[in-house]
Amino acid sequence: MKRYAIYRRVSTDEQSRPGHVSLEAQAAECRRAVVERSGVVVAEFEDVQSGLQASRPNYRRLKEAVARGEIDAVIVYRFDRWGREPGEALTACRDLQMLGADVESATEPHNDPFLRGLFFLLGYRESQSISQRTISGLMTRARKGEWSGQPPLGYIVQRENGRSVLAVDPMMAPLIRHLFEEAAESRLSLAQLADRAKAAGLRGRTGHPVSRQAVGRMLRNPTYAGCIVYGRTRNGKFTPRGRRPREEWIVSQDAHPAIIDSATFDRVQAVLSRHRAEQGTVRRTRFLLTSLAYCGRCTNTPGPNGVARAWRVYGHGTKGGGHYECSRRGSYGECDLPIISRAGLDQAVKQRIAAAFDFTSEVRERAADFIATEISERRSAAEQQRRDLARSLEEHNRKRVQLARRLMSNLIPEDVYQALEQEEAAAITLIERTLASLPADPPAANVEPVLAALSIVTWRDLEFEDWRDLAVLLIDRIVIYDRSDFEIEFQPAADVVRTALSKLSGFGSRKLG
Ligand SMILES: [Zn+2]
Repeated sequence: MKRYAIYRRVSTDEQSRPGHVSLEAQAAECRRAVVERSGVVVAEFEDVQSGLQASRPNYRRLKEAVARGEIDAVIVYRFDRWGREPGEALTACRDLQMLGADVESATEPHNDPFLRGLFFLLGYRESQSISQRTISGLMTRARKGEWSGQPPLGYIVQRENGRSVLAVDPMMAPLIRHLFEEAAESRLSLAQLADRAKAAGLRGRTGHPVSRQAVGRMLRNPTYAGCIVYGRTRNGKFTPRGRRPREEWIVSQDAHPAIIDSATFDRVQAVLSRHRAEQGTVRRTRFLLTSLAYCGRCTNTPGPNGVARAWRVYGHGTKGGGHYECSRRGSYGECDLPIISRAGLDQAVKQRIAAAFDFTSEVRERAADFIATEISERRSAAEQQRRDLARSLEEHNRKRVQLARRLMSNLIPEDVYQALEQEEAAAITLIERTLASLPADPPAANVEPVLAALSIVTWRDLEFEDWRDLAVLLIDRIVIYDRSDFEIEFQPAADVVRTALSKLSGFGSRKLG
């Protein structure tokens, strides 16, 4: 008699949807189908979560039971119970078949693999249209001036004639009004505004002071002027993430009491866009090490979540002079990394880059050939290893199924089975771990741009802009320990090129520092 396991799944985002099939109803239908197919139900598994998430704890348990040979077939209410994303669903199906169990549907034809694939695709389509229906529901609410989700700081959600609307939070609103007024009237940066808001007592929902980024978002949030604007960004579930064009936004004016009058709000928007325009040019042109440099003295201090945080080193000051400073020192005064002259540090970094990459075109060409050969060798070795491991994984899985069958037919005693089974399981774990730890493709793709950039560089008369481009291309990060003590971590591809160049330059290692 065929031994069936029932697998049930209901996703959180569809439980409230009319017409959804409850876990009990799914199970009843599955049991009926098993009886019809003259089988017996030996186990039941259920997961409650979204089908687009791959990790389903009980699915994993089901798979283990199949691998132990306890189950001949898995039955689901509909194939879309199996995973809403066709790739995931088909993979899961294949995995179980490899372990020796078929996947059947209680309500759909299941013997034809082509039809099964089709049903997976239909399930995915349906999930997509559910998401669209949810979005259009949110849009309708927004049009009617109703609020969905968490309210922004300064507001609370109130039920009013069956509608959810925003009401002013009397504790926070004055602080937010003050923040907007300061932003409108003064030339303070976002960081300074955040500091002042913190001093005034503005706190986020978690009780922590509001960050610079959060202040930026608040100052741009039209909710504070009484508007609801819905759909400024796409969530990226089925569509690419990003901003929607303005004409697609849904704007509901005067949806709730404003904290900021519209004149002040508009003035703040003008100030912010002026800031951005100015800062944009600063960031593009001024400092060689912007966004690349980190403080080497703060990096080992764990933050509130226990994770060591790397503090950036920022450039400050005027065009000709200027200096670099640890951002932690700038904000809290807690770092002892000295302030470093920009000219000196830039010069030292440039020297180090030139020492690592400035070679004759002949050496460069030899390096390019060397890298190409090495990459193709490494790639085929990795592929071979992957193939071998996959083959032995298959073999161990087969052995496992055989073992279980032999136990079932009383060909081996329980304790022998246990011992052998444990051996197989350990071997499989080891292989899976090895497979997972195999490196991805060597960084071949990015080697080309590095070589191309190096071939057109004339090192003697590089402009600042060229140095900046080169630094961004080659350097992952620079950790700064002291005025003349720093470490450059090159991008993986740049490092491949650097190693090849130094190997082939004939001078042995030309690494400095
Ligand atoms: Zn520091």
